[in-house]
Amino acid sequence: MTQPQARIKIAIQKSGRLTEHCLELLQQCGLKYSRGRDQLIGFGENMPVDFLLVRDDDIPGLVRDDVCDLGIVGLNVLEEKRLGYAAEGINEPFQVLQKLDYGHCRLAFAYPEESPLEKAAELDGQTIATSYPKIVGDYLQQNGLNAQVVEFSGAVEIAPSLGRAELICDLVSTGATLAANRLVEGETILDSVACLIQTPVAIPAEKTEWVNRLVERIAGVQQVRGCKYIMMHAPRSALHAITELLPGAESPTVLPLEDADDKVAVHVVCRENVFWETLESLKKAGASSVLVIPIEKMLA
Ligand code: ATP
Ligand code: ZN
Repeated sequence: MTQPQARIKIAIQKSGRLTEHCLELLQQCGLKYSRGRDQLIGFGENMPVDFLLVRDDDIPGLVRDDVCDLGIVGLNVLEEKRLGYAAEGINEPFQVLQKLDYGHCRLAFAYPEESPLEKAAELDGQTIATSYPKIVGDYLQQNGLNAQVVEFSGAVEIAPSLGRAELICDLVSTGATLAANRLVEGETILDSVACLIQTPVAIPAEKTEWVNRLVERIAGVQQVRGCKYIMMHAPRSALHAITELLPGAESPTVLPLEDADDKVAVHVVCRENVFWETLESLKKAGASSVLVIPIEKMLA
């Protein structure tokens, strides 16, 4: 067993929208874990990596204070906390290592259906309810707008009907919650996604190897999702046209085919998802026997 001080701690959300994605990501990095009796810590069994399950709002602080080496949290929470630290004169409280491919949402204004407020310029003199007072305050300041911000820790969408605010600024993904509360979405002020962050404190030597390995594996898992390995047969003359059709492809591997001078086998990794439309276009361009294969792991 590795010395406790050499074990890496990563903070993830205990129970919420990011939890399952984070646990799946760690598993895909090869981590096998057991959960402590209180369920607040996951102990890595095959790697010196443990994770702490906490409220997402606590993650930036745990990483900034070096209680955890790494953390995964939405950019919305990160930005709100960063502005808080900046106001205290603390700059770069954490390093954002990577934007991940889950937790997509946007922080946007929304106003009641019957409200005449449509443009940001009309925010002047209005009251805005939000759980992100610092981000909204910063936006207002940057745009020279004079509006009042009231902080709500939850259920922001009911603020207008309670008469507490004329409009809100809240996280939206599908827009269903807004619609259910008869609110119309306005301008987006932040596009958010889950981010991998690292402590600003230098990682001690006994941990660096595994921190680097874990970060590299997370990057590898992210890169591979949506990537596909494509194999096909193609006339040599159509090679250029075919490569152009493949989304995010690097230079293809071209292999000769037995008994066919004018045809070759083409193998290529596509960095984006491959849709039926692309396959149809490939066929039109002369490709045949097209196979699209998922990739399990990739190490750059
Ligand atoms: P906690 O109990 O950990 O404080 P929470 O209620 O603040 O949880 P969740 O609602 O679980 O947080 O959302 C976690 C993160 O998921 C958000 O901070 C945001 O980055 C992301 N997210 C993605 N889509 C949405 C959405 N439609 N609404 C809210 N958050 C979303
Ligand atoms: Zn939260």
